Amino acid sequence: MEGKYFAALDVGGTKIYTVIANTKLQILARQQIPTAAAAGPDAVIEQMLLSLQQTMTEAKIKKENLQAVGVCIAGFYDYKSNVLINSPNLKGWDNIRLADILTFKTGLPVVVENDANAAALGEVFYGAGLGHSNVIYITVSTGIGSGLILDNRLYRGEVGIAGEFGHMVIEPEGPLCGCGKRGCLEALASGTAIAKQAQADASAGNSTSLKTLAAQKNLTAKEVFTAAAQNDQLAQNIIKKAFFYLGIGIVNIINLLNPSAIVLGGGIINNTDKTLFQSLQKTIKKRVSTAAQTVKIKRAILGTEAGVKGMLHLLQEEISNARFK
Ligand SMILES: [Zn+2]
Repeated sequence: MEGKYFAALDVGGTKIYTVIANTKLQILARQQIPTAAAAGPDAVIEQMLLSLQQTMTEAKIKKENLQAVGVCIAGFYDYKSNVLINSPNLKGWDNIRLADILTFKTGLPVVVENDANAAALGEVFYGAGLGHSNVIYITVSTGIGSGLILDNRLYRGEVGIAGEFGHMVIEPEGPLCGCGKRGCLEALASGTAIAKQAQADASAGNSTSLKTLAAQKNLTAKEVFTAAAQNDQLAQNIIKKAFFYLGIGIVNIINLLNPSAIVLGGGIINNTDKTLFQSLQKTIKKRVSTAAQTVKIKRAILGTEAGVKGMLHLLQEEISNARFK
């Protein structure tokens, strides 16, 4: 074993988060930069390489001391063929062989994984899911994703795209989803769905404090949450309904997979106050099968570090499986 350090990058539609860690998975340096998503894959790959270089410099690590690089990315990643099929948040990333490209540019072994899968590993081995063997990690932000840890292992499905919880159909005649189908959970309960519903209701002339803002620009989920916190009835009802749908989706996964814990993260959950989180727990407990009542519904605790911690864990696993020489 030549190198003694790992690098991990979490590449999302808005930011790239890079860390360098030792073999005990202690993080020695970290960097966050905005993703030049509009500039396309070549530009973002250059950003990743630059961020890797800068983070190594900060950690005082030379490239020859790096053992491997882990990258988690928002998108459908075919783990079997090592191809990023596409990404809803990164336009133009179709059929990109990201691991091969990065190995070619760095000369290092590179492992790529879907970001929700990586965050699931992070939360289970170092965060809110610690001590549980069967955990479903769910992230609710602009979209909705999940990672399934079953019997202490990441379940990827046939090619790696298992856990597309956001596209579970909840209302067959419901609103159109970004995937082209109708009534997916993501089209009913994501940040995007909450913002869209508020925009439509405010534009239709319903009584709300968001009316003036909605006439000037497209509303964001954050603005809807702020209005709800200031007792705006319309905003409160939209959020309540979104969380009801989220609860229904979670009930379906619990009944299917019998996890001992559900860990919820992402921007929308982070904006959720105690009362709303408790109402979500109540919806779930009320509808889940009697046999699955012991399931714990928890908040994620690693925040932005969940993805990179999961990738560091995966790199260690790959080493113990002797995938890297
Ligand atoms: Zn969908």
